[in-house]
Amino acid sequence: MFLLCERGILGDVTASTAEPILQETFDVPTPTKRVLLLKPRGFCAGVVRAIDIVQIALETFGAPIYVRKEIVHNSYVVNDLAKKGAIFVNELEEVPEGERVIYSAHGVSPAVRQRARERGLKVIDATCPLVTKVHVEAIKFAKQGYSLVLVGHRDHEEVEGTQGEAPAVTQVVSTPEEVDALVVPDPNKVAYLTQTTLSLDEARSMIEALKAKFPNITGPHAQDICYATENRQVAVKNVAHGADLVLVVGSRNSSNSNRLVEVSKNLDTSSYLIDSAEAIQPEWLDGVNTVAVTAGASAPEILVKDVVEYLQSKGYGDVDEVEVMPENVRFGLPPEIVQAIASAPKSSVQPSA
Ligand code: SF4
Repeated sequence: MFLLCERGILGDVTASTAEPILQETFDVPTPTKRVLLLKPRGFCAGVVRAIDIVQIALETFGAPIYVRKEIVHNSYVVNDLAKKGAIFVNELEEVPEGERVIYSAHGVSPAVRQRARERGLKVIDATCPLVTKVHVEAIKFAKQGYSLVLVGHRDHEEVEGTQGEAPAVTQVVSTPEEVDALVVPDPNKVAYLTQTTLSLDEARSMIEALKAKFPNITGPHAQDICYATENRQVAVKNVAHGADLVLVVGSRNSSNSNRLVEVSKNLDTSSYLIDSAEAIQPEWLDGVNTVAVTAGASAPEILVKDVVEYLQSKGYGDVDEVEVMPENVRFGLPPEIVQAIASAPKSSVQPSA
């Protein structure tokens, strides 16, 4: 058996118990320590749009601007916007009557919209259009008399919002056992939807379990898992086998970031979710030559840059960007923000490029 390293065949390792032929010692070349920087990574179009909305609202309407829940699931982004005057609240009851409030990228239920009306709040909706698409599907299926099964994590804000579109007919499932336990009035009139940020593999197996239980189940025309979640997972799948470690920049409560760690671990490549470079434990790098670095859809590039600089300081001199697929998606801004830009003094307010 020959051992292959990046610089060629090192030798026949099965012969290692034999007496050495050469008595003199020589240096075996040390494998290069390198970083593979995955692309696409980091901010998706929904996150760029949501952050733009808060920044433009602050610039045009002035602080304070209230934001219901974290605008996106990233502590660096939230802290940065808080410094600029955004006030993050958990519920609308914390927003003074008549004030301006922004809904996060994860969306809200109709019950939340109703509470905003009752309190006379001026609402700006930063819900990602791909989350809104799932809401529209939920409304459509419910109107057609289907029982709805929503595959997702029930404590996630997006799932709370989608379930809230048709709470009387929607059940949330996150494991095959929960699929087994489902009871519906008519097994021939069931539809499924999924959270946008699930693991592709997990969603596939859950949908298979649903199809086995309800052979006539129907679903959305196109999958609900969003392009950004899919692309970042595909990038990890393509590169994890050639890496000793995958570092995922993202916050603990970021669903799509957690899924990237799972994808890597499922391929037997160790992986950690890190909020920033400071979270890297030096022992993770023991015996590691190739580190792949990616970032969840809500993690800013500045944090990725810090991670790469940290790795360079530890001897990972070669940094190669590995573009697995191109990604060029942009979403338009909501009408309230478009109007705000139009009425602001020229060039004072610009969305990010
Ligand atoms: S991760 Fe997907 S669903 Fe969530 S904000 Fe980004 S594009 Fe939208």
